[in-house]
Amino acid sequence: MSKQCDKCGKEMPDGSVAYEVRIQVYADFDGVLPQVETAEELEARLHELVAAMDRADPDELMRGVFHEERHLLCPGCRERYLANPLNLPLPDTHP
Ligand SMILES: [Zn+2]
Repeated sequence: MSKQCDKCGKEMPDGSVAYEVRIQVYADFDGVLPQVETAEELEARLHELVAAMDRADPDELMRGVFHEERHLLCPGCRERYLANPLNLPLPDTHP
C-alpha cells in the first residue's frame, strides 16, 4: 500500500511523511444586507429569492456558502503550497 501526492502524483510509501491539506471556504457575512425600502420591495425580493432557489440545485446553493476539499501532499508540495497558498503572482525576479 502506498499513498499518492494529489499535486505531483509522487508515490509515497505507507509510513512516510505526508500532509493533509483541508481547504474550507465559507461565505463571509459582514452583517450588511442590501437595503430594502418598503414592505413591497421586501416582498418582491423574497419572491425573487424563493423563485431562484426553486430553480437552483440545492448542492449548488450549498457550494455558494460552503466548500470543503481535502488533499494529500508530499513534503515538497506542502512547502510550495504554504509558500503561496493564495497563488498570488510572484514578484518578477528577472527584470
Ligand atoms: Zn507532491
